[in-house]
Amino acid sequence: MSNFYCEYCGTKASSIANLTANSCHRHPNGSNKGKHKLYEGSEKSKYSCKYCGNSASTISNLVANSCHRHPDGSNKGKHAVAL
Ligand SMILES: [Zn+2]
Ligand SMILES: [Zn+2]
Repeated sequence: MSNFYCEYCGTKASSIANLTANSCHRHPNGSNKGKHKLYEGSEKSKYSCKYCGNSASTISNLVANSCHRHPDGSNKGKHAVAL
């Protein structure tokens, strides 16, 4: 059985349907302004930010922190998980 994760917040669900049924508190349009988005990469022991290369052991730990290389400006957004 595999797990499915939200790309924005790292929430884990047992099916894609369960994941995308619920609002995401870290949605880019604003907190709970949209649903969780499926992370389409594979499950890893370490996840890296696609902007700066920082890594964390879970998606939720990675995306919780500001990114100094965010495209909107230094620390203007959170790390984004690379596939
Ligand atoms: Zn989410
Ligand atoms: Zn980053």
